[in-house]
Amino acid sequence: MNVPSASEPHVMPTYGRLPVALSHGQGCWVWDTEGRRLLDALGGIAVNTLGHNHPRLVPALQDQLTKLIHTSNYYRIPLQEQLAAKLCELSGLANVFFCNSGLEANEAALKIARKFGHDRGNTSPEVIVFEGAFHGRSLATLSATANPKIQAGFAPLVPGFVRCPLNDIPAVEAALAAHPNVTAIFLETIQGEGGINPARVEFLQALRRLCDERDLLLMLDEVQCGIGRTGKWFAHQWAGIRPDVMPLAKGLGSGVPIGAVVCGPRAAGVLTAGNHGTTFGGNPLAMRAGVETLKIMEEDGLLANAEAVGATLRGALAEGLAGVAGVVEIRGQGLMLGIELDRPAGPLLGQALEAGLLISVTADRVVRLLPPLILTHDEARQIATLLVPLIKALLAQPKP
Ligand SMILES: *Cc1c(COP(=O)(O)O)cnc(C)c1O
Repeated sequence: MNVPSASEPHVMPTYGRLPVALSHGQGCWVWDTEGRRLLDALGGIAVNTLGHNHPRLVPALQDQLTKLIHTSNYYRIPLQEQLAAKLCELSGLANVFFCNSGLEANEAALKIARKFGHDRGNTSPEVIVFEGAFHGRSLATLSATANPKIQAGFAPLVPGFVRCPLNDIPAVEAALAAHPNVTAIFLETIQGEGGINPARVEFLQALRRLCDERDLLLMLDEVQCGIGRTGKWFAHQWAGIRPDVMPLAKGLGSGVPIGAVVCGPRAAGVLTAGNHGTTFGGNPLAMRAGVETLKIMEEDGLLANAEAVGATLRGALAEGLAGVAGVVEIRGQGLMLGIELDRPAGPLLGQALEAGLLISVTADRVVRLLPPLILTHDEARQIATLLVPLIKALLAQPKP
């Protein structure tokens, strides 16, 4: 990992890449430069909501390219207003700030949490974050992240974070008692990089109550689990609650870079002119991608598809792996699934590639599946057919 590569000497070695280059895709399938077809169970890390070369997204983007790609935020951008209105309709929240990525959305959320404090005379606001969290790789978001590997080498970290275990309300209450300057509670509704760890429904509901009682912001990072992946527009909707601040990114543009911070009434007025900005954020091309993605998701019933095909995929995995020693748990929701093993799952990445399947491994021992939401039942069964024998073979070896 992370050694200069003979084949890409001028690309900074920030990734240990698999030895494959992809050339094109269609639906849930991609082809490598040798002409091999691969089944995409990763979707560009929960980004390619509509798969590849979607027959309605691509012409819409082509149309947009001939009109405007970028104008700057000095002028009104009607597509931005349209996408903001749609996100507010789907979430029940009030307004939106657009940016270009997940970490940018989370940075904006953290700035909102701080300014929310300052507006109330609290000049050293703190934010409660959680074990297992991943929020990005900027200095503030890597400080909010729980992974020491991501933080190593980048101290001093940004101060102002208080960490609690996930799904532990007494721990959050104790942290609030010990840290009166806390202005926000910030978590992923389902942790992605941390290994597909859901915040429990009762936990989310209790956090909502705590935030209401104490005038705090509940900030739910739905960068990975949002935009239909779990079978609802936003994963927190399974708990019947609303956040005050919701960062989004990954799947919102079906591959075109985009980020958004959606705010409810308590947070919507915190940032005003001069407080925050971005050159590229909210540009017409990215906004068109977002508008069309949400429209196609509605027209094609992709929430219901994520739920139903997710159940097929989970069922096929559970059946194939039933009774296999070393499978700790299969968890997640819709088309955001993790298979936790009792040992490092890294070897599966290359083996899956050889078998014609793109997957991810996260938190060392968790096989993670984040396929496009257009996945069919048949493709879900094919994923399980390709993956199950590889997992069984890995687990049949002596545990390292
Ligand atoms: C991917 C991810 C981010 C960071 O998004 P980038 O676009 O890579 O900056 C933040 N939060 C969560 C939950 C993510 O999954």
